[in-house]
Amino acid sequence: MSLEAYSRTKDGGTLLSPNFRVREFACRDGSDPVFIDSALVDLLQRIRDHFGQPVTITSGYRTARHNAAVGGAAFSQHCYGRAADIRVKEVAVDTLADYAETLLPGTGGIGRYPEKKGRACGWVHLDVRAAKARWTG
Ligand SMILES: [Zn+2]
Repeated sequence: MSLEAYSRTKDGGTLLSPNFRVREFACRDGSDPVFIDSALVDLLQRIRDHFGQPVTITSGYRTARHNAAVGGAAFSQHCYGRAADIRVKEVAVDTLADYAETLLPGTGGIGRYPEKKGRACGWVHLDVRAAKARWTG
């Protein structure tokens, strides 16, 4: 894996893989630059290819300030460009997480955020940290 820095303004439309552009990973506070780990892009592309459906990144890279504003964990993997919260069209949270499990055996982070009261739709957090982490939020 390697961490790359991009400019949201200059590189926003740049394709990182067949289906993912730089801007999809940009911090939602609108800031530049955007840090993205290439291993994360590879992981998401494999998921896109497997399900054959659009993958929506609801949160990718986060600045420390934005991470704090959205209540992210201290030292969140999002702040290192290694994490994305995603949904896949017509794919349930557990189905998505179970497939991600096959791509991250003994490594990386997988957080399941199922639909529940007050949460209109679920998502899965994925990250490419070296250690293994699993949780349900
Ligand atoms: Zn996350």
